[in-house]
Amino acid sequence: MTAAGLGAAAVLTGIAVGAKPAHAATAVSTRQRVVVIGGGIAGVATAWLLDGRHDVTLLEAAPSLGGHATSVPVDVDGHHVMVDIGAQFFGPYSHPIYNKLVTSVLQVPTVPNQLDNTVFQYGVPTPLMVSPSADRPITDLLQYLPALQAVAELMDRARDLEARRDWSTTVADLVEAMSVDETLKESFVYPYVASVNGATISQAKEFSARAALALAVRPLVNDKTEYVNARDGLQAVVSTLADECTSVTTRVNTRAVALLRSGDCYEITDSQGRVHLADQVVLALPPEPAAALVAQLPQAEPLFSAYSRFRYMPARIAIHRDPIYMPASPADWSSFNITRDGEYCEASISYARLRGDAPVYKSWVLHRREEPKQLLASMDFRHPLITPDFIQAQGQLQRRNGADGLWFAGSHVFDVDSQESALYSALTIAAELAPASANRLRLGTLPTSPATP
Ligand SMILES: Cc1cc2nc3c(=O)[nH]c(=O)nc-3n(C[C@H](O)[C@H](O)[C@H](O)COP(=O)(O)OP(=O)(O)OC[C@H]3O[C@@H](n4cnc5c(N)ncnc54)[C@H](O)[C@@H]3O)c2cc1C
Repeated sequence: MTAAGLGAAAVLTGIAVGAKPAHAATAVSTRQRVVVIGGGIAGVATAWLLDGRHDVTLLEAAPSLGGHATSVPVDVDGHHVMVDIGAQFFGPYSHPIYNKLVTSVLQVPTVPNQLDNTVFQYGVPTPLMVSPSADRPITDLLQYLPALQAVAELMDRARDLEARRDWSTTVADLVEAMSVDETLKESFVYPYVASVNGATISQAKEFSARAALALAVRPLVNDKTEYVNARDGLQAVVSTLADECTSVTTRVNTRAVALLRSGDCYEITDSQGRVHLADQVVLALPPEPAAALVAQLPQAEPLFSAYSRFRYMPARIAIHRDPIYMPASPADWSSFNITRDGEYCEASISYARLRGDAPVYKSWVLHRREEPKQLLASMDFRHPLITPDFIQAQGQLQRRNGADGLWFAGSHVFDVDSQESALYSALTIAAELAPASANRLRLGTLPTSPATP
C-alpha cells in the first residue's frame, strides 16, 4: 500500500523479533564478514544494527543510499521543502518500531499531517466523496453520506481482518460481502482501495484485503489518522543511520553482479570488478534482482520458487507545481485526492494542505491523460501486488532465512510494504547475528510490530 490515508507486549532487549528462523544458526558469537546487498532502509538498518560486531560491507547500486526512501529538495515561493518522492508517511500505530527509531533514538524531526481525502471521477465536477476534516462543516458533507458510510464499513471489516490476522480474504471477497449498494462498490469502494495501493481496479480485487487496508486502518485511533512525515524527508533517516555507523564500509554506485558459493564462504562480485568474501550475505533488495543473484547458488531452486510468487505493478511519481490533478472546486481539495478514470485510480498529494508547506504536489502519473506542467522531479517505482499468495511466499523466505549464511531483508519479506516491515526484517537478522550490538541496545524494549508474522 502506498500509505495514503488512511500493536504492546514488549520483548526483552536483545531477544529475537518474531519467530526464530528455522534454519538460522544460533546467535553468531564470532566476528564475521557480512556483505549487505542493497542500501534501502532494510539494508542500511541491517548494517547499522550489525555495526561494531561484524565486518560489514554495504553495496548499493544507486548513487546514494535510501532506495524507495528518496527525498528531493524543492524551493518554491520562498519555501524550502524536502519532498519524499517515494515512502513518506509513518506513525506510532502503523510503524511502532520505526517510529521509535526515528523519533526517540535518531531524533530526526517530524511534522504532523492533516490527512483527508477527496475521491472524484475524471471530468466530473462533483466529487464521489469528501472526507471530514477540521475546516469542513459537517453539513457540507451530508451529500457524501453513503460513500462515508461505505468507508466506515470497509474500515470496520479491515479491523476485523487485523484482529483475526487473516491474509486470505481478498478485496473482492471483502467488498462483495459489504452491505453497500452495488453501484457504489464499483464507482467508489474499489477505486478507493485501488488508489491507496497504486493498483488498477482489477489488481485491487486480487489483493489480500488485510494487506490492502492495513496502512489505512492501523493508524486510525479515535477516528483520527496518526501519521507524520520526517521534516527533512525520509532519506534523512537513512543518512542518519549510515552516518552513525563507525565501521561499515559503504559503497554506492556499486551493484552486486554475481553471488557464488566458494567453500565455506560466499564470493560477491560487484560492478567495479571487486570481489568481496563473506561468511554471511544479506539480500536487502527486491525479489527480482535478488532472484537474479541467487541463480548460481546451490539453494537456487527453492529461492526461485519463492521469489517468482512476488508480483509488482509499475508506478511513476511526479513532483510538480500545477494543481492539474486536484478536484474542480478548491473547497473540495484534500491532502490526498484520488481521480478515478476507468480502470485507473491515481492520487495526488497536496503538500500545502497536508503540512502547510509550499504549493507542491506529489502525484501518481503513469496512467494520467495529461502530463503535469512545472515538473520538478519524477521517478519510477514498483508497488507490490500483495495477494494471499504473496503472503505465503513471504513465509517461504522467512523459513529459509539464515540457512547457509544467506539472509533476506526488505519490506517484501514481512507484512505489507512499509518502512516498518523493512526495519523489522533487519531486526530479525540482527537478533541472530548481533543481538547485543550497541545500536540494537539503543532501541531498548521493542513495541510489538504489526509486521510480526
Ligand atoms: C511511491 C511510494 C510511496 C510509498 N509510501 C510509503 C509510506 O508512505 N510509508 C511507508 O512506510 N512505506 C511507503 N512505501 C513503501 C516503502 O518505500 C518500502 O516498503 C521500503 O522503502 C522498501 O525498503 P527496502 O529497503 O526493502 O527496499 P528498497 O528501498 O527498494 O531498497 C533496495 C535497494 O537495493 C538496491 N539494489 C537493487 N539491486 C541491487 C544490486 N544488484 N546491488 C546493489 N544494490 C541493489 C536498490 O538500488 C535499492 O536502493 C512507498 C513506496 C513507494 C514506491
